[in-house]
Amino acid sequence: MQRERVSENVYWFQSDVYAQVTAGVVVGPQWAVVIDTLALPDETIGMRDFIERELSVPVRYIINTHYHADHAWGNCFFPDATVIAHARCRELLEERGLPSLEAARRQNNAFRQTRIVLPHMTFSSGELTLRVGKKNLTIMSALGHSDDGIAVLVEEDRVLFAGDAFMPLPYVVDGSLEDSAASIRKIGRMGLENIIQGHGDIILRGEIDAAVKENLVYLTNLKKIVKAALRRRNPEEALAGIAIEDCGKSRVHLGGLAEALHQRNLRALVQQWSEDGAKAKK
Ligand SMILES: [Zn+2]
Repeated sequence: MQRERVSENVYWFQSDVYAQVTAGVVVGPQWAVVIDTLALPDETIGMRDFIERELSVPVRYIINTHYHADHAWGNCFFPDATVIAHARCRELLEERGLPSLEAARRQNNAFRQTRIVLPHMTFSSGELTLRVGKKNLTIMSALGHSDDGIAVLVEEDRVLFAGDAFMPLPYVVDGSLEDSAASIRKIGRMGLENIIQGHGDIILRGEIDAAVKENLVYLTNLKKIVKAALRRRNPEEALAGIAIEDCGKSRVHLGGLAEALHQRNLRALVQQWSEDGAKAKK
């Protein structure tokens, strides 16, 4: 696991084992707030040990940026913490998280200690503010990757934990392309020092404009290419061989998963938009 100090009392963690997924912690004098857990129990426990032993504070709150396994399944390793999330995150963890953990347990022994802990405190509109020591955390919705996405702004440092609303490759299979573009655009206008993406490396101030632009170009091209394919007799065939680069984006790592995620974006949009078309014709 990689670890870095982002600013005073703010740390970032990145997985070495799954898709460069990230998590963070903001430390106050008496307790800390964790933002997301990591994909596998060992790494989440490694992060907890660092906070409790090196930073010498207990974790009082966990903020889940969304319900996906790689961000929310580690809640159970902080039994005394209060979990904060979007109201929809709580519903999705219950509807989808519980059965998919059952399935994961059958395939992977690593999850035998894992159980789903549903958020205790939720909000569905507006913003929520949490004060940690001298810092204000503003929690706001950030949709697109999923319908329950939230982001956490460390006001004083202009550091944004964006969750998967901002990734090295926008991934909209479980969300919406339009919402994703809107979130990316909004993030680009926030005047940030750093974007902590849900996966991948920290984006520094001087890199933000280019990253925002690249992701928006990718989504625009993705939309154009899928819409064009939908006018063909066999859209799936028309999209075969359309690589990330064909959508105007290059050099994405994501632990080797990028091309697979891109292919899933294409397939999901074909499905979403051909259903919309069928509905419109009725
Ligand atoms: Zn993720």
